[in-house]
Amino acid sequence: MRPYMGQIIANQSLRERLCSDILNGSLAHAYIIEGVKGSGKHTLALLSAAALACEKKNDKNLPFPCSECPACRKILRELSPDVITVGCDGKATMGVDSVRFLREDVFVVPNELENKVYIIEDADKMTPQAQNAFLLTLEEPPSYAVFFLLCENAAALLETIRSRAPILRTEPIARELIDEYISRTDRRAAQMKISAPSDYAQLLMSAENGIGRALELLEPKTLAPILEQRNLAKDFVYIAIDRPENEAALTLISKFSSKRDKLSGELTLIYTALRDLILTKKSDNAPLCFYESRDAAIELCEKVSLGELIRLSEAVWTASDRISRNANVKLTLMTLLSEAEII
Ligand SMILES: [Zn+2]
Repeated sequence: MRPYMGQIIANQSLRERLCSDILNGSLAHAYIIEGVKGSGKHTLALLSAAALACEKKNDKNLPFPCSECPACRKILRELSPDVITVGCDGKATMGVDSVRFLREDVFVVPNELENKVYIIEDADKMTPQAQNAFLLTLEEPPSYAVFFLLCENAAALLETIRSRAPILRTEPIARELIDEYISRTDRRAAQMKISAPSDYAQLLMSAENGIGRALELLEPKTLAPILEQRNLAKDFVYIAIDRPENEAALTLISKFSSKRDKLSGELTLIYTALRDLILTKKSDNAPLCFYESRDAAIELCEKVSLGELIRLSEAVWTASDRISRNANVKLTLMTLLSEAEII
């Protein structure tokens, strides 16, 4: 079969769906692509734009898009004036201003291609006002316009927008494939795999099934805080289960963040670690989301009962829930450590 969007290894069925929509001339005016950060949403949108414009579209002996004709090359290098990416520019939300640009620009005919493609990053961060303003464009777009709304959570989009654009969800990629791909194509990854195998294994565990995220984590300043957070989670679980008689327990509390959203991330990670252990108790083949080594998970499990693990994970869940409901940070942590019998 003809390789569809062959450069990427992820999202096979989505690639096939978009390519056949393009070849059949049945591409919708707008798609919502939902998936975690780094799961290939932007790549899918960009490859679709290239597929739409590919000059070798009808050559069945070539991959689709060919990635070598002038149109493909310009689009894939993000240099085409007719493929426009709009985002939050580092802001927490996307307001009416960004949408105003879209609404005006969409009526300017394409420069060189037959279509004009808009890739809207973080579409779920559009304010409701911005979404309503965008809806007017989405309801009656010019025939050449195609929109890709990328988001982590399509539920944050207004129902009126969701009903006008099919939702495509990116598919998780197995860690082995991410490992194979990044260690083959990125020198930093290949080096890290040899020189720091433990950090590399943790990087793969933290990549949330996305190659883009894995590549981001190869930057030491992105990876360092993640490793710190993972160490905190490992320490918490180890101390709660093993109860070593040293000062580790006392210093644990100072390692938690005093910032609410960071703390919430830390508690979620501890919960994930405990969930791994609960699953390990029940099955030898449970897929693990936190522990990079099954042996380490099994060793911890041997020291604790299933009931105790469930009790611990409930305590962590309750703490996380209290934090999201604005409870006092320090008090919530003290209660958690006491419920986990750490202090
Ligand atoms: Zn091409």
